Formats: sequence, C-alpha cells, structure tokens
Amino acid sequence: MVMGDIATATDLLVIGAGPGGYVAAIRGAQLGLDTTLVEKDAYGGTCLNRGCIPSKAFIHGADVAHEAANAEELGIHADPAVDMRQMQQWKSGVVDQLTSGVEKLCKANGVALLEGTAAFEDEHTARIAHGGEGQGMETVEFDQAIIATGSRPLRIPGFDFDDEPVLSSAELLQMESVPDSLVVVGAGYIGMELSTMLAKLGTDVTVVEMLDDVLPTYEDDIKRIVRSRAEDLGVEFHFGEGATAWGEAGDGVVVSTETEDGEVSEYAGDAVLVAVGRQPVTDTLELESIGLEPNENGFVETDDRARTDVENVFAIGDVAGEPMLAHAASAEGIVAAEVAAGEPDALDQQAIPAAVFTDPEIATVGLTETEAEAEGFEPVVGEMPLRASGRALSMNESEGFVRVVADEASGIVLGGQLVGPNASELVAEVALAVEMSATLEDVAGTVHTHPTLAEAVMEAAENAQGQAIHTLNR
Ligand SMILES: Cc1cc2nc3c(=O)[nH]c(=O)nc-3n(C[C@H](O)[C@H](O)[C@H](O)COP(=O)(O)OP(=O)(O)OC[C@H]3O[C@@H](n4cnc5c(N)ncnc54)[C@H](O)[C@@H]3O)c2cc1C
Repeated sequence: MVMGDIATATDLLVIGAGPGGYVAAIRGAQLGLDTTLVEKDAYGGTCLNRGCIPSKAFIHGADVAHEAANAEELGIHADPAVDMRQMQQWKSGVVDQLTSGVEKLCKANGVALLEGTAAFEDEHTARIAHGGEGQGMETVEFDQAIIATGSRPLRIPGFDFDDEPVLSSAELLQMESVPDSLVVVGAGYIGMELSTMLAKLGTDVTVVEMLDDVLPTYEDDIKRIVRSRAEDLGVEFHFGEGATAWGEAGDGVVVSTETEDGEVSEYAGDAVLVAVGRQPVTDTLELESIGLEPNENGFVETDDRARTDVENVFAIGDVAGEPMLAHAASAEGIVAAEVAAGEPDALDQQAIPAAVFTDPEIATVGLTETEAEAEGFEPVVGEMPLRASGRALSMNESEGFVRVVADEASGIVLGGQLVGPNASELVAEVALAVEMSATLEDVAGTVHTHPTLAEAVMEAAENAQGQAIHTLNR
C-alpha cells in the first residue's frame, strides 16, 4: 500500500457498471454478499449511455417522423420537420433517468459504489485510481471479483476515431444535426440499425460491406426482407468491398474501398461511420497480475458458471465474448453473483434471444432448422406470414413472418425466427417456450388476444402441427 491510500475490504468486487456489472452487484448484495461496484465512467455502461437505449430512442424518433411523412394511404398528410437538437435533449433525458435509476437501485440494495478505474494487484487485491489529478488511489481487498468491463468499437486500419469525420456509433449518437449524407462501413446489426434510422431522417446513406450481404448470422429470407426495405428507404449497398482509406473532400469525406480482385471505388459523404464490430476492454485491468490471459481475440474465457481460469474471478458480458448483448450480460451477471454466493446456477445459452431493430425488426432465439438438424434433431417447422395477420395489416404492415422450429417427435419448441413489426417483443414468447421446453401444443393451445401480432406465434405453432386456420398448412 502507498502512503495516503484508503483501504477497504469487500466480499465481492464488481468491475464495470454496465448491464452485466450493475445487475451482478445488485444480485450479490441481495444474496448477502458485501458488494462493491466500481465504475470509471457512467452507470449503465455502453447500453444506457452509448448503445441500446440512445440508439432505440433515435430509432423511435425516426420511426415517428417517417410514419407521419408516409401515411397518405391512411389519409394522413404531414411533412414533419426534425429538430435534432430537441431529439438529443429528449434522448439525454431518457438516458439520465435510467442511469440515475441504476445508481439509486445499487445504493438501495446496499451496494457500495466507487468511482474510478480498477486494476488487479493480485488475486485478492485491486487498486482503484479515482478520476482526475490528485483524486488519489484506493486499495480494495476482495474475496471474489467479477470482471464486467464491456467492449469498445473496433477500429480498422486507416480509420482513427480521433479524426473528426471518422465516427464510432458512440459519436454518431451524439449528433446535433442530421447529416445530409453518410458512408457507413459495416452492415452488421449496429450499421444496419443506424443506417435505417438515418435514412428515415433523410440522410443519403451508402453502406460498404466486405461480405456479400447484410447481417451475416441471419438466414437468407430474413436478410432479404430487411435489406430490400433499407434499399426502399434509399440506402445504397456495396458488398464485397473493404474500406481501405478516407480523405477529406470539400466539407466531407471520400472513402476508398477495394474488392478481393483489387477493384477500387470511392464513396462521398459528410462523414464516415465505422461499425465493424466491438472489442473487449481489458487493457486497464492488469490481468497479468492475477495470471489471467485473454484469448487470441482479447476476450476473457469463462465456463458455464461465468468462472475464469482464476478460481475466485468471474467474467461476464461483452468482455467474456458472444453473445455481446445487454440481456446476455445481465443473465451472466446473475449467474456469476449466485455462484459467488454459493448458489447452484449455470448459464443456458440456448434461450438467449437476439434482436435487430431494423425496419422491420428481426428477432431470434434458440435453433434454426439447419442448426436443429446439425444437432441431430428431426425438426418440424411452422410459419405464419404476416400478410395473413389482421393486426399486421391494420398497422399497415404486411412484410415478415414468424417461424417456429420444434423437434418433430416430442413437439418441444427448439427455436424461432421472427421478422416483422415488434419482433423484438414477440420473441419473448418463443424464448419462454424454449426455456420451459414447452411443446407446439402448449403454444398453439394458449389462447392469444385478437387482434395481435402475437397470434402469429400461435398460428406458426399450429402450422407446424398441420392445424393452422389462417394460413395453408405445409
Ligand atoms: C450502438 C449500439 C447499440 C446496441 N444495441 C443493443 C440492443 O439493442 N440490445 C442489446 O442487447 N445490446 C445492444 N448493444 C450491446 C450492449 O450495449 C452491450 O452488449 C452491453 O452494454 C454489454 O454490457 P457489459 O456490462 O458487458 O459492458 P458495458 O455496457 O460496456 O459496461 C462496461 C462498463 O465497465 C466500465 N469499465 C471498463 N473498464 C473499467 C475499469 N478498469 N474500472 C472500472 N470500470 C471500468 C466502463 O466504463 C463501462 O461503463 C448495443 C451496442 C451499441 C454500441
């Protein structure tokens, strides 16, 4: 210990207050562990400050403007003006309400909060450097620790986020005005969500993507719907091209790309958004002090109880790898805290849903038909196209479907793929079915409210049984 240090002791030290860390800390305290949560930046982490919540707030704002401007068919004639400063203020209000809620919840549950950057000294000691000059250091002795330090945007050679026109998603979500044009590098879920949102606000969006389609992890029929809707909104895609460099041009930028065959192209925009993925944050932790080495991609490896190779140290959320999603981080946080408190718990990756908030939304959980076959099941599949849904049509939406995959012999639901309005909400029912090992009969036999989109989940289950009423059976 250095003279002047403060020293404290805690049962459980949680490093990082994103949706992984703050949830783990609250559960640890609920289970009677003396818990300390340390955060170097803002409560709520990426999710509340720079990710899920700000992006969904802007997506909602863009949807309101776009719907109002495109409702002639419904007899509504409007030409909304978008005041981006006002939208920013509203978004900041939402974020502030949630982040202060996190702080209050932690305190109310008895979690001790420390502000600063944590680094390990040894397997039972961490040093916290408080922000700003002369703010001092603090030593915390702990029995167990949970690493929940999250991730940051991945850089690509030639594109430095310190350069003003090169934006990460975090910087884009701070915009004070809608750009006239934008080049987006990457057609993964963040690139697609932000491109769709900006196109609705009137930006000319050009997307360059090294692969040959959008959203690499999703099935072709899902990708096709989302890509063609984005194209209808004016998004221009260039596949099979990697961004290699950018240069200033007038008030904006020109982004150079190259194909595998060496063909070079250039695209102009006000700025360039680089959305090619995220990398784990471990560089401030001094993991070598506890003999913990990240894998070749920088992630901290864990078992199904969120334990790392160091007996008393857990890792959760983005820093522990895929799925890099807020609800996965929280679920892992609960497991880590419960295991730390001596409870029997383990992660079930099967029932973790994923959603993409494009137009329309995509949501999936569990196994696809192909994955089910690869795992040795004989799957049966049921589908309900939304053009046969009264609720979808009454919302002036008809594109998309709900697909349910089940084991033919037992009828147990193995997964679902949904594309359409509110798919991110609807997937919860399929996730519950997967989690409970519910059967097609359970889902089909549950009376659903009419008219709702949720009826499509019931109809897809009926379709898999050859008993659908509102669509022809397979
Ligand atoms: C634009 C965008 C949109 C997204 N949309 C969604 C979505 O709709 N749904 C979804 O599920 N996910 C979404 N995500 C992903 C989601 O934000 C992350 O999966 C989630 O935040 C991960 O949580 P975490 O707790 O692991 O890490 P984070 O939220 O990144 O939190 C980690 C925290 O640790 C702190 N920290 C780091 N190092 C230290 C240290 N040494 N000492 C102290 N504190 C430290 C950081 O300051 C940070 O606050 C989105 C991400 C982005 C960028």
